[in-house]
Amino acid sequence: MLIVQKYGGTSVGSLERIEEVAKRVIETKKKGCSLVVVVSAMSGVTNELIDEAHYFSQFPNPKDMDLLLSSGERVTSALLSIALNDKGYKAMAFSGRKAGIITDSVFTKAKIQYIHTKNIEQALKEDMIVVVAGFQGIDENGEVTTLGRGGSDLSAVALAGALKADLCEIYTDVDGVYTTDPRIEPKAKKLDKISYEEMLELASLGAKVLQNRSVELAKKLSVNLVTRSSFNQNEGTMIAKEDEIMEKALVSGIALDKNQARVTLRDIEDKPGIAAEIFSSLAEQNINVDMIIQNVGRDGTTNLGFTVPQNELELAKKSVQNILSSKSVIETDDEIVKVSIVGVGMKSHSGVASAAFRSLANEGINIEMISTSEIKISMIVHEKYGELAVRALHSVYELDK
Ligand code: ASP
Ligand code: MG
Repeated sequence: MLIVQKYGGTSVGSLERIEEVAKRVIETKKKGCSLVVVVSAMSGVTNELIDEAHYFSQFPNPKDMDLLLSSGERVTSALLSIALNDKGYKAMAFSGRKAGIITDSVFTKAKIQYIHTKNIEQALKEDMIVVVAGFQGIDENGEVTTLGRGGSDLSAVALAGALKADLCEIYTDVDGVYTTDPRIEPKAKKLDKISYEEMLELASLGAKVLQNRSVELAKKLSVNLVTRSSFNQNEGTMIAKEDEIMEKALVSGIALDKNQARVTLRDIEDKPGIAAEIFSSLAEQNINVDMIIQNVGRDGTTNLGFTVPQNELELAKKSVQNILSSKSVIETDDEIVKVSIVGVGMKSHSGVASAAFRSLANEGINIEMISTSEIKISMIVHEKYGELAVRALHSVYELDK
């Protein structure tokens, strides 16, 4: 059995923590597994390095930046290997280069192109524990690149995919993925299993646990992911293919997105091409439009509403202003939040949406916009009701049970 384990910044945040990680790695090794361990920089180190660069320059050369930032992960990989060897286990530290991780040349946010696994495979054959510095690779010219913030998760998933590992365990300082944010609903429960699709939709819940790009990659490569804490022995959450999850929950989780704002366009011309024009101009500005609602038109005019990230509201307003006729009115509202219910079980059950609407009605919460997909129902409500809505929905689907 081949396992890839990844330890995040807090898990390797001090020499004592690295010692603890070494013990955990050895426990796995003792079970007879082949083991590749990917490590992040010690917590805070990447930020410190960025600050140090900014001491000299506001716009440091991205190539220099990558050489600088990749050093954090090299330190932890070398220290962990040293600790393992000291405890009598054969281990070797690998930089991204030695691990054969080849990326494009987009410095500071490079994408992995392929992985030459021969060095790692050779070391595994010699029964070594392979300790890889996460977050980095090299481009075709041999220049060091990094994968974007949180990129060690991506290193781990990509290696697990390339090596056809049986399991990829992501160790962090939380127990796994919860039914909702426990700070909003203390009765939130840790999920044992969740599908890739659900995890991607619940990104805001999982954000502290797993980088979203790494979930996308795990889905693409069919890597079985587990996220768990390195600070206890709890089981964690398994993220896998939908059909590997036997008992499909109707609803898996409730997410709250506070970073939403709404634009409403009133009395715009109801003619072919108007939506295309509006949304092309938003796309040109790289504005991320989420929900869109158009009303049935009347007397040649109609109303159109859509949501954008809060920090893109002004830009969105400006770019549609240029298109609309003088009779149209633009209204904006940044006092809204998006509450989403996510679950693969929705595909095959009816009544999920009506239960949501009923439970918000019972709390006197007005729903201002609704959108649905196969496994998600999202509702826009006033921000003052966001957390109440989460709790009401959490209880109506009995996620606390
Ligand atoms: N050290 C990098 C960061 O802080 C990569 C990682 O931890 O995943 O973004
Ligand atoms: Mg991280």
